[in-house]
Amino acid sequence: MTHRAYIGVGSNQGDKQRNCRRAVKEIGKFPETRVGEVSSWFVTEPWGAASTEWYVNGIAAVDTGLEPAILLRHCQTVERKMGRPAERPRWADRVIDLDILFYDDRVLEGPELIIPHPELHRRRFVLAPLCEIAPELKHTLLGTSIRELLGQVEDDKRVRAMAGPGARETPLSPTVPMR
Ligand code: ADP
Ligand code: MG
Repeated sequence: MTHRAYIGVGSNQGDKQRNCRRAVKEIGKFPETRVGEVSSWFVTEPWGAASTEWYVNGIAAVDTGLEPAILLRHCQTVERKMGRPAERPRWADRVIDLDILFYDDRVLEGPELIIPHPELHRRRFVLAPLCEIAPELKHTLLGTSIRELLGQVEDDKRVRAMAGPGARETPLSPTVPMR
């Protein structure tokens, strides 16, 4: 039985886009897992006060036979393998961050894993790339589509689709004007 998950991929250290692309490739090597559509890569302004270093963010749609906790474990293994320390302050700069956004219409509220990701509907850097690959997907708890959530989101952080190798042909006009 395969499940559809959406994984948020982000990096704000080193060669950020390369890190993100490598992480997607690693996800494709998980057992019983196939990577489907991948969004464009977006350049995004950091959240939280701890860093001023911009991120590259994108989303991968994944079909997997792995249960959520196992999928998370594999994601964390990739994070560590790519040089992210196990312990670090919240919001700290990171070589790679892999967050499970949705897993079918599953709702989980465990100490290790919360699905849907509790912040996703408030973050333009998640909604903008997710809207490229799954605009009609409904948020499991809110019942609102990703397109609608992106239309409503109050997040004023800047988010812009990147050009460049591997990025989908996306107009360079920013989702939000770069100030
Ligand atoms: P954040 O992504 O919020 O900036 P971290 O990547 O440092 O923070 O993750 C901290 C913890 O969040 C992880 O140890 C993990 O157990 C937990 N977590 C809870 N829900 C999720 C989820 N849906 N996807 C990934 N991690 C999650
Ligand atoms: Mg994370």
